[in-house]
Parts: sequence; structure tokens; C-alpha cells
Amino acid sequence: MATKEKTKTNKKTTKKSTPKKTTRKLAAKKKPTKKVTPTKKTSKQTYQGEEAFLATIEPYKLNKKEKYMSAKQKKHFLKILERWKQLLQLEQNRTADKIQNNSNHFADESDRATHEEGFTLEIKTRERERRLLSKIDQSIKDLDNHDYGFCMNPNCGVEIGIRRLEARPTASLCIDCKTLEEITEKQQYG
Ligand SMILES: [Zn+2]
Repeated sequence: MATKEKTKTNKKTTKKSTPKKTTRKLAAKKKPTKKVTPTKKTSKQTYQGEEAFLATIEPYKLNKKEKYMSAKQKKHFLKILERWKQLLQLEQNRTADKIQNNSNHFADESDRATHEEGFTLEIKTRERERRLLSKIDQSIKDLDNHDYGFCMNPNCGVEIGIRRLEARPTASLCIDCKTLEEITEKQQYG
């Protein structure tokens, strides 16, 4: 138990007890209210409409022996649907802000009239996007239930097909049933 302490270490008490700097950071550190600002460099994130989005879909490379709606294919479509959903949600927030701003800015009746057209269009687009969003949600659910990719017509149920799904990722009817549906609708409504 001989602890050789050769040199008596002078306990250097260099511990200067520096008084705590009391730099009061003023309340400038307020949390910035999260708001989606469209003007920021989110060029990659902005939604340019359905057609533009669909054009960005990279065709799935089919393996010859691959089963239809294999796990890999499902993943491919899930990725597409989720990306689409995200973009649409961003777009919805952006439009909501825009509509809000519009109704604030144009108190003047004539100014308002000038912008009315674009305004109505904006609302219509938004409504369309909202419907699309719910379709996308349904498709994501279908993927989960293994219903995705098969015609939902109970008398049919055939494979919708990878290429058709890439052209219309929310499709729930095969091309034949869809065509038939459109014909029937036309007959019913004029
Ligand atoms: Zn069908």
C-alpha cells in the first residue's frame, strides 16, 4: 500500500472561481413561428401540378420472374404516393396562406374583382387537390391491405398493371372497367 509520492504536488489551486458571466441573452431567442414560406429555395419541393409530378415518376424496372405487386413493387408505389402526398400537403398550406392574404389585401372592391378569377381558380384547384389527397390516402391504405394494384370492381379484380399505375398511381379500376364506368357516367349525365 505504498504509494510513492515523489514530488509533493502542490495542489495548484488555479481554480479561479470566475464569476458566472451574466450575459443575459435577451428574449431575442424567440422561437420562430413555423410557417411554410413559399418563396424560399424549395424549388425542388414545389408542386407544379399533377402532370408534372407524374412525369417525374421513374418507371419501375421489371424483373422477368417477378410476381405482380411484389414487396419491391409495393415499395416503389408507396414511395411515389408518399412523395405526392407530401408535395400536395405543402401546396395546400401554401394556397391556404395565399387565399388568406388575398382576402386581406383586397379590401377595395374593384381590386377584388380583378383578382376574383384567379382567386376562384385557386380555390377550385385546392378542392381538386384535397380530393386527390384523399384518393392517395386510400391508395396507401390499399397497399397495406394488399388490395393495391388490383381492379376493385368485384366482378373483375384483374391486375391493373404497373404501367397504368405509374401513369395514374391512384387508379383502383383496370382500364376496361374504367372505360366502362366513363361510358355509363356519360349516359347518365348527358
Ligand atoms: Zn376491372
